Amino acid sequence: MDTRPRECCALTDCPWCSRDDLACHYCSGSGRWRPEMPVQDGDGMISWKRVEEECRMCTGTGKAHHHVAAG
Ligand SMILES: [Zn+2]
Ligand SMILES: [Zn+2]
Repeated sequence: MDTRPRECCALTDCPWCSRDDLACHYCSGSGRWRPEMPVQDGDGMISWKRVEEECRMCTGTGKAHHHVAAG
C-alpha cells in the first residue's frame, strides 16, 4: 500500500498545497492518521478499533489546510 502523502488535494491550484512550510497539525505531515473507530458487535457492545486512513484534514497531503471544502 502506498502510504506516501499526496502531492496535492482535490482542489486545483490549492494555495495550501503549493506551500511546504506548514505541516498538517492532525497528521504531523504524514498524510495518514490513526483514529479509533467504534465497532459494534452482535451484543450491541461498542468497542474501539484503531484504523489507519488518509488524513481528512489535509486530504492526505500532509500539508496544513485550514479550510477544506466539504465533499
Ligand atoms: Zn490542497
Ligand atoms: Zn493531515
